[in-house]
Amino acid sequence: MYAGRTETPCCLCANEDTVSRFEVPPRAVTLMKNGGPIAWRDIVGPVTLQFCADDWELVTELALEMDMHPLSRCNVAHASFSLREDFEALLSATKDEPDQTKQETELLERSRAVIENRDDPYTESRDIVEAIVIGLALSELEVIDTPPHQSAVAAAVAEKNNI
Ligand SMILES: [Zn+2]
Repeated sequence: MYAGRTETPCCLCANEDTVSRFEVPPRAVTLMKNGGPIAWRDIVGPVTLQFCADDWELVTELALEMDMHPLSRCNVAHASFSLREDFEALLSATKDEPDQTKQETELLERSRAVIENRDDPYTESRDIVEAIVIGLALSELEVIDTPPHQSAVAAAVAEKNNI
């Protein structure tokens, strides 16, 4: 589990003592509190959200037991991400527009792999929570039809009924 200290506080309550984090694709910013004015297409790399111990417990419960994500309550001001302009200033060069589709595909593939291996003892619940949130967010944003964990459950049910 992630245990380091960073400057990014809990995205739900702004507590600076965070115990866990996960990544979401830039498009998910539009589901967050105060996310409206953010030009998500200009975000370079994933968006990282940090959680304090209490909120992590809540977020885990929401994802694993209720099939819900916390993004609408996450304050975008407490999310960690880089905008293209920052990079340009830093590198004094113009970078190409970030490829959001490629990034979303990569995060989805990673989530699918986690969901497929969810019963593996080496799969951490943090990874499953992240995979579920990514799937739910991208399906709410209509990037995909069904989140990977829901299709995995549906496939398992179908298989069971065939026996
Ligand atoms: Zn918190």
